[in-house]
Amino acid sequence: MTDEEPLSHADTIAEVTDGLSFGPWIDGGPAETAETFETIDPATHEPIAAVGRGDASHVDRAVSAAWDAYDREWAKTTYADRARRLVEWIKTLRDHAEELTRLECLDTGKPIADTRAEVEGAIDTLEYYASIARGERGAQIPATENTHIYTRREPYGVVGQIVPWNFPIWSAAWKLGPALAAGNAAVLKPATDAPLSIIRMVQLSADILPAGVCNVVPGSGSTVGSTLSDHTDIRKVSFTGSAEVGEQVMRAAAPQIVPVTLELGGKSPFVVFPDADLETAVDAASSGIFYGTGQICDALSRAIVHENIADEFLTRLCEAAAGYAPGDPLEESTTLGPLTTRSGYDDVREYMQLGREEGATVATGGGTPEDPKLRDGWYVEPTVFTEVDSAMTIAREEIFGPVLTVQTFETYEEAIEMANDTDYGLAAGIATERTSIAHRAAADLQAGIVYVNAYGPILPEAPYGGFKQSGIGRELGTEVLDHYQQTKTVCVTLSEPTIDG
Ligand code: NAP
Ligand code: MG
Repeated sequence: MTDEEPLSHADTIAEVTDGLSFGPWIDGGPAETAETFETIDPATHEPIAAVGRGDASHVDRAVSAAWDAYDREWAKTTYADRARRLVEWIKTLRDHAEELTRLECLDTGKPIADTRAEVEGAIDTLEYYASIARGERGAQIPATENTHIYTRREPYGVVGQIVPWNFPIWSAAWKLGPALAAGNAAVLKPATDAPLSIIRMVQLSADILPAGVCNVVPGSGSTVGSTLSDHTDIRKVSFTGSAEVGEQVMRAAAPQIVPVTLELGGKSPFVVFPDADLETAVDAASSGIFYGTGQICDALSRAIVHENIADEFLTRLCEAAAGYAPGDPLEESTTLGPLTTRSGYDDVREYMQLGREEGATVATGGGTPEDPKLRDGWYVEPTVFTEVDSAMTIAREEIFGPVLTVQTFETYEEAIEMANDTDYGLAAGIATERTSIAHRAAADLQAGIVYVNAYGPILPEAPYGGFKQSGIGRELGTEVLDHYQQTKTVCVTLSEPTIDG
């Protein structure tokens, strides 16, 4: 394949699905299902593959296989034993990186160059947890002279994990890496809209991870997802997705008193101060909303720009938006793919219409591209709205598309107030050349991640998660290991040192 002549979608589908079947992977092998569902290529809206549809019985079997694997073998392994298994799996995944990239590119419609970087990011995340888990340690607590107190960090046993379609393989690695390295066995549910790369990734653990340690059950949220959330034999649930479903997952886990980690949505602000380097600011703003066609939980979807530079910023931003021309995801040069789902396409177009009805002005975009080559895909134009008021729906709700609102401010206090005027608190961005403003704003913004003069990076070393309704707990970093292990305190009362002989 050359850059100029990518294979057609049909040929690429035939090539990457050849000899494979997709469905639940339980106890180290494929599991039969009564039904299948089709996963769709959003660039052509043609089917890619039939996927075995798991149901509640598959979840039960996966949970029981996971406990068997845990009790039989996994609970007895050391961090080093598990790291060696993970490293072997990582090597296999690297050998299949291009295959995983193409599967995910077809399934999500994400540009292939971005998908390749995300597959590498997923592998890097697994590598990080394989290595850092070996540095885990408990504590010795010198509380009294006659007691020896120490802590052990122990896995929960079997954990349930639910991921969305916007970063399939990367989000799966964020969850599986720390969970398995910490000694848990996992049952993971991929999203119905993009399950292929995750299923293939887990298939590639065959004969490397002990059977039952890593299971995947594709199927609907209302059956597979809810069965995982309220299962009496699951000891921890980790969910990434919408706030609405996150609340349901939390409620479902509550009767079992199962701890829940939630990574939910966002409506992240990007504050551009008057001294900002505008080229840097426009790069950050445009990648912050157009990367992934805006289908990103931490998308910087609200630009809050000082009034003195607003005109210049907007002119340059619209030029940058024009550089994100929608294109074929399989082409190496494409930077803006279609939306991944039909319902997302409908929703984003409704928000564009609503923005107009609410009185905002379209500065660029606002519709679907005219290019006839793109007419079969779920494409929308990169869009910027001005004359936006904080009360408007487009400034409050997560659009999950390439739609940016621009508001202006006069004082620092006004900017921070506007930025924090949201129920969410996942990410925030700042553009300024002044160090003291950067640090002060980083402290004043109510968000779990603050990006200064760039969008990203997201690295496995750095904790990731939200304030307010963007979630509970953190992924990545060493912090996530706390969510996959529980502390046991051992108190040993020392008797007087007598030697009886
Ligand atoms: P979603 O509808 O909440 O779905 C997410 C996952 O939950 C899917 O696997 C889905 O299954 C499953 N699910 C649906 N109903 C369920 C239920 N009743 N019980 C248990 N699981 C259920 O979210 P989405 O629209 O696909 O994804 C976009 C959302 O995810 C956005 O809000 C985005 O901001 C958020 N997100 C957050 C982060 C983060 O790190 N904070 C990262 C990425 C995305 P089906 O596919 O079968 O419906
Ligand atoms: Mg799809």
